[in-house]
Amino acid sequence: MTQDLEGGCACAAVRYQLVSLPMFVHCCHCRDCQRQTGSAFVLNALIETDRVAVLSGNPEPVAVPTDSGRPHQIYRCPSCKVAVWSIYGGVHKLLFVRIGTLDDPAALTPDVHIYVRSKLPWVALPGGTPSFDAYYDSRKLWPQASLERRRAIFG
Ligand SMILES: [Zn+2]
Ligand SMILES: [Zn+2]
Repeated sequence: MTQDLEGGCACAAVRYQLVSLPMFVHCCHCRDCQRQTGSAFVLNALIETDRVAVLSGNPEPVAVPTDSGRPHQIYRCPSCKVAVWSIYGGVHKLLFVRIGTLDDPAALTPDVHIYVRSKLPWVALPGGTPSFDAYYDSRKLWPQASLERRRAIFG
């Protein structure tokens, strides 16, 4: 399954592979994500930085302002400037990989919908997937194996 989890930017200078499944997948409907993508929401796979193999290219960080004031760096292809992942809060061991850049973006589906308070009104959420007005408590929602991986990052 993980051999399918390759992706890259539009010009193919940046290519990467997720070497395991992510810990959890967010669909975020917050205003920051809407602005930064120019779209209705963003799809982020949360995965350890050392489980993302950069096959080619060198994504470069761009700091963006956030509504919360927490630091957020978007990593973009130096050539075509497509965003491939983000680092939030200066936590460099954890990447938020943009699922739309996978060669098969259907390979991963959201485990949770967050910041639904600013969801665009025409977006209908699937039944059975948890959704929250704002953020949520990962301890209550993540599988045990993912929580253990998360603990390895944050201690
Ligand atoms: Zn590119
Ligand atoms: Zn967001």
